[in-house]
Amino acid sequence: MDPVSPHHTRHPVGDVCFDGELIKRYDGRGPRYTSYPTALQFTESFTPEDYHCQAANSNQERRPLSLYVHIPFCQSLCYYCGCNKIVTRNKQRIQSYLQHLYQEIGMQSALFDKDRVVEQLHFGGGTPTYLDDPQLIELMAQLRDHFDLETGDNREFSIEVDPRSVHDDSIRLLAELGFNRLSLGIQDFDPVVQKAVNRIQTVSDVAAIVSDARQYDFQSISFDLIYGLPLQSVASFDRTLNHVIAMRPERLAIYNYAHLPARFKGQRMIRDEDIPAPSTKLEILHHTIDKLVASGYCYIGMDHFALPEDELVKAQKNGTLQRNFQGYSTHSDCDLIALGASAIGNIGNAFAQNATSTPEYEKLISSGQLAIKKGIEIDADDRVRAAVIQELMCHDHLDFNEFGNAHQIDFGTYFATELSRLVPLANDGLIALEADNLRITARGRLLLRSIAMIFDRYLTTTDNDKRFSRAI
Ligand code: SF4
Repeated sequence: MDPVSPHHTRHPVGDVCFDGELIKRYDGRGPRYTSYPTALQFTESFTPEDYHCQAANSNQERRPLSLYVHIPFCQSLCYYCGCNKIVTRNKQRIQSYLQHLYQEIGMQSALFDKDRVVEQLHFGGGTPTYLDDPQLIELMAQLRDHFDLETGDNREFSIEVDPRSVHDDSIRLLAELGFNRLSLGIQDFDPVVQKAVNRIQTVSDVAAIVSDARQYDFQSISFDLIYGLPLQSVASFDRTLNHVIAMRPERLAIYNYAHLPARFKGQRMIRDEDIPAPSTKLEILHHTIDKLVASGYCYIGMDHFALPEDELVKAQKNGTLQRNFQGYSTHSDCDLIALGASAIGNIGNAFAQNATSTPEYEKLISSGQLAIKKGIEIDADDRVRAAVIQELMCHDHLDFNEFGNAHQIDFGTYFATELSRLVPLANDGLIALEADNLRITARGRLLLRSIAMIFDRYLTTTDNDKRFSRAI
């Protein structure tokens, strides 16, 4: 028995089993649960005044802080992209956005006690590394001037890096600025696929970044890959995986490409006939999982893999792993301050999202108010359900009595309907359901969101088809 793990009946951490039939049967649409409630539940009845109250209350509880900074600009369009971004070469536009961001940093920081330490920082986009060096330096200086940024090893400061937008000295600069984690958008190394999605970056460019990051002691490097891109095959993706595995990033996220040209204009540049068939996509996924596991990677859950020595795997083992907007994290219980257009924060008992359009964001900030457009105050039921979903997404196991005691509910009574709805999933082998606990099986781990959806009180079937991408 593993003395560290309270869940000794579980499969080993990192274990996963591909079951194509099960995946096909459960391949419905559903949320990714980077938050619960999801952003679809946010409404405009949540106001900046509500946010002020939440911020004031959070100062009583004194949790550490986490900052998310959104840089929406990109130099060119990757055809598959479904992000909120602006493709521009107009430097003036970027500078204007940054001025508004600095104003927002000032307004937000005034709401939080100065001695609350920022343990986590993430720059996302768009392309944060599209900012030039002086802009990056100034942005970090603004953050340092207004917040108490952690300087020790305990900090988790990450930035999304586009390998096409760095120069020889970029990684050194990022290290000097305090970043200790890199997330690299790789997607696919095959030149044919890269051309079809308009994102050309060579293996040697990426290898040089990885080598620099090792030299400057970055604690972890994360690669994003996408399967299901045009002209991909099992053989071509295998070659990509060979390059990836040779570089040994500590973390990997393997996303499913959702081809929705009616919704994302850029995707119309991709020819329908170049999209791999669903059966090929499944084969690519199957091969990828087998290959990564054989190469020593552990499956964390929801598209994420990590090496056994990585903090994520340790956190999953000792029960402290968290699901958050970036995927998974080891830092629990931070209040998340969101900065920039479309960014989503989580302060106290509320989620709050800034205006998604950059002009509207800038207009609101110029008028001297926060750019919060919508959000939600979560109630006691949301909290309980969020905790269940968190356990399922991170730890694959729920002890009903333990959970009930922690949340002062009788689990069996509170979730009587959900427990009965879990029975078919148990019969299909996604979970092992016993009188006092639920355990997700190795094959159920690829269908985490189908299991989590049972506990989501906001879902209706019609909503799922319209609003979410497929689970696999
Ligand atoms: S994938 Fe990244 S770099 Fe490409 S357009 Fe989207 S946000 Fe920009």
